[in-house]
This record gives sequence, structure tokens and C-alpha cells, in this order.
Amino acid sequence: MRIYIVSDLEGVAGVYKWEDTEDDHPENHEERCRQRRWLAEEVNAAARGFFDGGATDVWVLDGHGTGYTIDIELVEPRVRILHGTQHPAYCVGLDENCAALGSIGTHAKAETYGANMYHTGTEAVRGEWLNGISVGETGRQAFLAGHYGVPFVFCAGDAWACKEMDELVPGCVTVPVKAGMSRLSAKTLVPAKACGLIYEGARESMNRIGSIEPLRLEPPIVCRREFYQPTFDPENPPAVGRVIDSHTQETEATDMPALLFKAYGHDPDWQPFWKQHPNSGNYQI
Ligand SMILES: [Zn+2]
Repeated sequence: MRIYIVSDLEGVAGVYKWEDTEDDHPENHEERCRQRRWLAEEVNAAARGFFDGGATDVWVLDGHGTGYTIDIELVEPRVRILHGTQHPAYCVGLDENCAALGSIGTHAKAETYGANMYHTGTEAVRGEWLNGISVGETGRQAFLAGHYGVPFVFCAGDAWACKEMDELVPGCVTVPVKAGMSRLSAKTLVPAKACGLIYEGARESMNRIGSIEPLRLEPPIVCRREFYQPTFDPENPPAVGRVIDSHTQETEATDMPALLFKAYGHDPDWQPFWKQHPNSGNYQI
């Protein structure tokens, strides 16, 4: 029984401001190293909870930034990490072979005043809607999982991100590990406390598989994105999608994978190597 986890950094206990990849001061380097360790510890806590709840396989997408944030030396040996600076697809490996989807380090969607570091993709985005339903990054992932019949069962992160997923997927287990004081400050649990609660929550979420319905949308799926600044010129529309006004674009597709391929410019025919070669199962780790 495989559990798929999407990890991010902004919702990890102890992280309160944007990662600054330009700052090369030793203090910043040391802070980023610590944050990568905290993320690895939260990955471990969740994975141990899932394994103790009955999972046999835990895959973790290193979902923050360029895709190489988790300090893998510290990760529980049974976990498999999906990482790399190339992103040939959205949530690679998430498919009908997974029993459930969860998220750790989860931040709230754009315009969530009260949450620490709320955003949807980038700070430029004011909002995103799938067939009229407001979603953030984690909601979008839950709808992708739903396409494969996979339920979203677990969310750890900012308290407002937990509220968001609780409303979108009633019955999922949520573990708030911090609450925003402002967009760039937070009241947080310390890592030891956060990890204890994440372990308990992940283990409990295994009991919800089977009772939580996968999120599904009726085709066609229309993704509407609004930007704070005028971004689109109706006279020169982008190659994909239609311009509603200078702030707003809509993309339409028959299902969630097709939508995400379109929205992120991926090759729709791309498959990981293990799916391309019929006998690659012999060469898996
Ligand atoms: Zn992130």
C-alpha cells in the first residue's frame, strides 16, 4: 500500500520567511541547512506514522523550489524520495498505484490573511479556481490525485492551510504546526512537538482510506487564474488558454493531468523511465 506525500518548505514548523536563494552569507546558509533538517524530520514523522498505520511504501515528492530541499541523509531508510531540478511532469509518480495522498510543510493559498507565507505558486497570483472551486497548490494536487481515484487524507502545516484542506476534503486528518502572526512571522510548535503530532496524525489518517471520497471534477475542467498585476494582453494572448481580462486567464482541458501538462508546459506523452520500459520493474529500487 503506497502513500504519496507532497512536501513543501513554507509550512514546516520553524520556517517563517521566504527562502532567500540569493543571500550567500554563512548565516543564511546555516539557516537553510537547519530548515532542510526540520523538513527531513517532518518527512520521517509522517512516514513512520504511515508505515505504522499499514503502509508498505512511502514516496515523498521534494516539492519546494527547485526540487532538492529535503536533507536526504536524515531520512528514514524505508522512504523513497522523488527529486531533481528537472520537472518533466507535475507530481511525478502520483497515479492509480497510490492508496492515498498527503502533504507536509503545507502553506495556505493566496489571499489567506492570517496565514504565514500564503501563496499559490508565486506571490504574483491572487487566486486560482478549478471549475469555480478556489484552490491552492495542495487543493490542486488533491484534485489530480482524485483523477486517479486516490483520496487526500493528510495535511500538516500552517493552521490556515489545514483549515483550507479540511473544508475541501471533509474527514481528512490535519495537523497544524504553526499559525501566522503576519505573513512573515509565525507562532510555531518546536520541531519535537510538531513531529510527534505529525506521526500521530499520519498514523490515524491511514484509517480514513476507504471512507474519504477522491476529489473529482466534471469535464471539461476550467482553471481560472487571477494575477495582482496586469499580466495579459487580450490582443496578444498566450499560446495556451484564453485571456478574460488583463489580470485573468483561463485554461481548459478534458482532465486534470491534461490541464497540468498544459498549464506547466510539460510534454503530455512524457512518462518516467520505469513506465517507458516494459521490464523496468526488475531495475527498481
Ligand atoms: Zn515552497
